[in-house]
Formats: sequence, C-alpha cells, structure tokens
Amino acid sequence: MHKRIVGVFSALVLALSAGAAAQDYPSKPIVMVVPFAAGGPTDTLGRNLAEGMSKALKRQVIIDNTVGAGGTIGANKVAKAKPDGYMVLLHHIGMATSPGLYRNLSFNPLNDFEYVGQVADVPMTLLAKKTLPPNNFQEFVAYLKQNKSKMTYGNAGIGAASHLCGLLLLSALETDVQTVAYKGTGPAMTDLLGGQIDFMCDQTTNTTGHIQAKSVKVYGVTSAKRVPSLADIPTLQEQGLKNFEVVVWHGIYAPKGTPKPVLDRLNGALKSAIQEASFKDSMAKLGATPVPLDKATPDALRAHLKAEIDRWTPIIKKAGVYAD
Ligand code: ASP
Repeated sequence: MHKRIVGVFSALVLALSAGAAAQDYPSKPIVMVVPFAAGGPTDTLGRNLAEGMSKALKRQVIIDNTVGAGGTIGANKVAKAKPDGYMVLLHHIGMATSPGLYRNLSFNPLNDFEYVGQVADVPMTLLAKKTLPPNNFQEFVAYLKQNKSKMTYGNAGIGAASHLCGLLLLSALETDVQTVAYKGTGPAMTDLLGGQIDFMCDQTTNTTGHIQAKSVKVYGVTSAKRVPSLADIPTLQEQGLKNFEVVVWHGIYAPKGTPKPVLDRLNGALKSAIQEASFKDSMAKLGATPVPLDKATPDALRAHLKAEIDRWTPIIKKAGVYAD
C-alpha cells in the first residue's frame, strides 16, 4: 500500500514537472535533424526554416545533418530521441517510400512520431553533366538507351527523393544504369559538376542556381506544371512521359510522446516561419512552394503521410526494389 502511494506520488511529480517543462519550453536550443548532407536541398530548406522558427521560439533551432541510408538513419535518431521537444526531424517524401523500400526499417513512420506539420513542396529536375552530348529530353532518351552500360546515375541512397525519381524514370524508359549513392545530393551535385557522374534528378532548391549558371544540362521538370522560376524548362509530361510526377513534400516530426503544449509551440513556430516574407521569397526563387496554413498541421501531415505510404508502397513493391 505504502509503495503504491509512493508510486502514484512520483508519477504525479513526473507529470507536474513535464507540465512545468512544457510551460517553460523552449528553455534551450532545439536540434532539427536533417537526414541528408549539408549543402543539399533538405539542408537548404532546413536552414531557411530554422531561421524563422528560431525567431518565433526565441531560441535557436540548430541543424544537425545526421546522414546515410537514404535519410533513414536521421529519421531513426529522432524516433528514438527523448520526447521533450528538443529534437525534431525535417524529412520529405522518403518518410513514405522507406516502409516499402526497407525490409527491416528500424522505425515506423506512422507509430513512432508526433506530427508538427507540412512545410513546403519542391519539384525536381532531370539534369546531366555539361559535357553529356544530348541537348534535350528526346536526345537524352536515345543516348541513354544506346549508352546505358557506361552511364552513371547519382542519388542520395535508397529512400531519397533522387532515388525515387530515378526509379520511376528508368522504369518508365524501360532501362537501367549504374547507380552511385551519396549521403545527399549536395555531394552528388559536386560530382555532377565535376563530370564524375552522368546524370541525376534533384530538387530545384539545389539545382536552380546551376541551371541558371548553365553549369549543367537540364532535360525537364518532374512536376505536372512548369515551375515559375524555371518557366522555359518543359515538364517531363509535356515531353511524353505520361503521368510522370514527383513533387517532394516535407514535414516536421517529433518523437512519439512529445507533450501536446510543446507540439503546439512547434506548430505555431512552423506556421509563422512559412509565412515570413523572406522565407516565401527564397523558396519562390528556388522553385519551392510553402504549404498553405491548413496543411501546416499535425493532422494534415499524418493524413498525407498515410496516403503517400499507401500510394508508393505498391509501386515500389512492383518495381522489386528493396534494401535491408
Ligand atoms: N533531399 C536529399 C538531400 O537533401 C536528397 C534526396 O532526397 O534526393 O540531399
């Protein structure tokens, strides 16, 4: 009996101190895990977002690039982190493709997280090194089919958006090439610019500057409509790839069990960050679109994640691609 009272008492103390901690939140910097290399598209989005969220939370939001295995190592780190609001995850469409791709995923995207909200949608571009001979998509397809045994495709590992885009593209073209996996498309871009790899798909947040500087060749955008900041680049659909569409959506996640008042604070900071004129402006220049406010919510993110897992899993299973 005595033991039981002590147990109830300590549970009460714990609950009260968690409540007090939530009230004081945040009392120290917050770590935002970006599961890909620094200098790449997720990192760029994260750093832009962290600026506005830091302002709203009056505490610094620090980017931590925990990289590898197509983003799953960083996601797993946050799934296993203390649920106190001091570690969150910025991740993209890979959160929905990983369950189909990995046979032994060490976290469950639908059970192991709390959801803060969606962030922004980013289209991709199909690019090649500047010295690759084809000058447009039609020429690229013909060249690819003739030279596939010696061509290399760069991506950021199984589960990355660049992996998904390549998978869909190569299966639509009924061909295959050698893949080179990086810890992010930041380093993959360095090798594309240096001519060490032949082509890749990457988000406009990482490719716009290189396209504008003409330091790469570009064959199309992966969205259904053209991207306003790259308006002269046709979509892959326009060029004959029927129904081809990859738009990289992003969300913020916290470990399961993060208290509701803390999630509310994070959500408020997310909403204010994506409404900042400077955020909207830099996103527009990079071809990205911040989500409308009704998508920057926990429910909208979880519902979208679930729908995307249901959408991509059968496609991935059919393609027969997997990792352990
Ligand atoms: N978004 C990744 C990065 O930031 C790459 C990818 O998903 O393809 O490097």
